[in-house]
Amino acid sequence: MAYKNPEDQRRNTNSWYQRNREQHMAATARNKERYRQMWIAYKSTKECVHCGAAHPAIIDFHHVLRKNVKKVHKLAANGAYKQAVKEAEDKCIALCSNCHRILHWNEVLARQDERRLQKEAETD
Ligand SMILES: [Zn+2]
Repeated sequence: MAYKNPEDQRRNTNSWYQRNREQHMAATARNKERYRQMWIAYKSTKECVHCGAAHPAIIDFHHVLRKNVKKVHKLAANGAYKQAVKEAEDKCIALCSNCHRILHWNEVLARQDERRLQKEAETD
């Protein structure tokens, strides 16, 4: 029910929470666990596109589309399961954590090489 007075609305919401605190916390915990299980099930369908390793504990999502990047693991950890799956499906590839680290390591080295070559070209 909407209240005309926002103070009445706030008071009613607080009152409801105080009366239903235990139930609310139990439902929140159940939902969090349900989404965690769904996330594990989703990651279990993935394998590393580089080496083929497949285990939910080691699957990362690497952004190949860098527009409006949202951290997939943070979405999943916050219970935003559908958003996490959408972000992963729309913008990412699945990599195992080792291949993911190696890919970023190589990106850093490539950028360093590029900067060094640019400096050398400028001094010539
Ligand atoms: Zn891999």
